[in-house]
Amino acid sequence: MAEIRLAEVRKSFGAVTAVDGVSLDIQDGEFLVLVGPSGCGKSTLLRMIAGLEDVTSGEIWIGDRDVTDLQPRSRDIAMVFQTYALYPHMTVRQNMGYGLKARRTPKAEIARRVDEVAELLGLAELLHRKPAQLSGGQRQRVAMGRAIVRQPQAFLLDEPLSNLDAKLRVGMRASLAQLHQRLGVTTVYVTHDQTEAMTLGQRVAVMRDGHILQCDRPQQLYANPKNLFIAAFIGSPAMNLVEATYEDGAVRFGQYRVPLAAAPPAKRFVLGIRPENFEDASFAPGLPTIEVGVSVVEELGSDAHIFFQVDAPPITAEVLESASDGALLPSNQALFTARVDARCVARVGEPLRLAVDPARFHFFDADTGDRLAPAGAPELVGVH
Ligand code: ATP
Repeated sequence: MAEIRLAEVRKSFGAVTAVDGVSLDIQDGEFLVLVGPSGCGKSTLLRMIAGLEDVTSGEIWIGDRDVTDLQPRSRDIAMVFQTYALYPHMTVRQNMGYGLKARRTPKAEIARRVDEVAELLGLAELLHRKPAQLSGGQRQRVAMGRAIVRQPQAFLLDEPLSNLDAKLRVGMRASLAQLHQRLGVTTVYVTHDQTEAMTLGQRVAVMRDGHILQCDRPQQLYANPKNLFIAAFIGSPAMNLVEATYEDGAVRFGQYRVPLAAAPPAKRFVLGIRPENFEDASFAPGLPTIEVGVSVVEELGSDAHIFFQVDAPPITAEVLESASDGALLPSNQALFTARVDARCVARVGEPLRLAVDPARFHFFDADTGDRLAPAGAPELVGVH
């Protein structure tokens, strides 16, 4: 086990800067997730830690060793990729033991470690099979097993679950979390899936354009996103975002007006409201309300999603642009989501009164996208 330290790490491919001066301390035994949209540089950063990509400038430390110029095999790390790269002609046992054999570990020791890890991963019955005789999830576990038997100082995982179907992915996610608890090995995990990031990471680093925008515990990222991009990227369904103003004691956005006692930090801003900060007004007495026209209702059993239109341009964060719902609407209409009690009786095309909690409003600078602290309130710290 070891801590990993990145100091001003940079990587350019010709004119393209993939990683642009990243500094990060990953603690001994920590599970850190790198998340961000396609092309943000997360795989390149991981490959630099592994030594598969050289650095243009900066330093990488694993434990007390500067590994910046070391070959991958001298770094004492194990990497698991999206494509498991198992040897098709070898059995599960041979695949798992291969790395140890290449390092001339004695046969009996290889057998002992493979048996132990196979037991841990529920692969003991499958050791004699070839990869073609395994399911996707089992192959993924063999790939993990091959990394674990080496007892490396750190695991580097690049989208290891993205080839699995949705249900299996959820199961494997839980197994990975358990495995990390048992082994306590420093782990860096790359994904573009924010749900995976938020459920697995002890800390999550959100990347964009080669930079880390924010690295925090999941609850903190959710409660206090540093800017509009993170606000839009983290959370499912996404935070509702719209340009808004403050006039005459009320926040105005689109056709709506919500009274707010304390003036926000600016007169013009981007307003963010998480779907769960709306409620059917009949179940939330005492809060301000707005009347919305229901566009879509999704019954989820425990609660329901109500979609409604706001007469204002949608905020075009990359993530919102890619949301298919938003793309279908005229560009001067934002589609908001409210998560409400399942008892809510909502019909498409009919009006519905929604309560909204202004204490939970998020404010962002309309020009820079940076988070604005609510007036009179210091930045919230911790879960609330
Ligand atoms: P994805 O989720 O799509 O894999 P990513 O966040 O992992 O994306 P990287 O693969 O790290 O992104 O790529 C970051 C940037 O560097 C991209 O603009 C990519 O085109 C560029 N890049 C990566 N590898 C190379 C290479 N070998 N040569 C040239 N450009 C590269």
